[in-house]
Amino acid sequence: MLKQERYRLFVDYFSKNQPNAVTELHYSNPFELLIAVILSAQCTDKRINQVTPALFERYPTPQSLAESTVEEVFSYIRSVSYPNNKAKHLVGMGQMLVEKFNSEVPDNMADLQKLPGVGRKTANVIVSVIFDVPAIAVDTHVFRVSNRIGLTTNARTPLAVEKQLIEHLPKSTLSIAHHWLILHGRYICIARKPKCEICPLTYFCKYYEKNNTESALLKAEAAKQKKLVAAKKKKQNAATHKALKKISVDKNS
Ligand code: SF4
Repeated sequence: MLKQERYRLFVDYFSKNQPNAVTELHYSNPFELLIAVILSAQCTDKRINQVTPALFERYPTPQSLAESTVEEVFSYIRSVSYPNNKAKHLVGMGQMLVEKFNSEVPDNMADLQKLPGVGRKTANVIVSVIFDVPAIAVDTHVFRVSNRIGLTTNARTPLAVEKQLIEHLPKSTLSIAHHWLILHGRYICIARKPKCEICPLTYFCKYYEKNNTESALLKAEAAKQKKLVAAKKKKQNAATHKALKKISVDKNS
């Protein structure tokens, strides 16, 4: 199947079946989403949603975060992964928003990436979700699922995946495709063992095609070997039978 066809089927399927896919992180303004996405690195959205209500209540503005201490922020996020670093990032992020960006979340990649704790992936999420910029953030799910389906080829880094997806996906679907791939990776195409048996994408998934072709070939080879062994056994039995018959004739003559 040509890559272009795979992309067409991918967009068709998800446009019909998940036309309103959104992030599972809870937030009510750009500042809260920025905090949630910074916290979500190497952690589950479920866990982040457990700690953010109290955090958002205590730090409703960049100013309140800027005036806090790493120790106090840590006490709100101790159950997420890497709480020390993330507490430092949040306080630093609050301070920079106040000092350099008039307490507003920047609307462009370059400024966002100046904030502590904000890399390309986080900046892509913010510009696409909040500012409607056609961009696609590549996290571990997007990376893995794109590769398995066959949307990317030999893409070894998140940036390479991002470039290939941008090259082939219609611009209008870039932001939502990020959610399609994340949700599919989180619930069906999971890292350890993809649930291909319940996956609706098997008809265009490269991984599925490859594995099933391989297992079909293995099954065919096993059947061929079985047939050969049976034929050999039959031949041996016939030879033995013939020899016994001959012995019996010789004895009687
Ligand atoms: S068929 Fe399997 S490998 Fe392909 S997308 Fe579905 S779960 Fe993932």
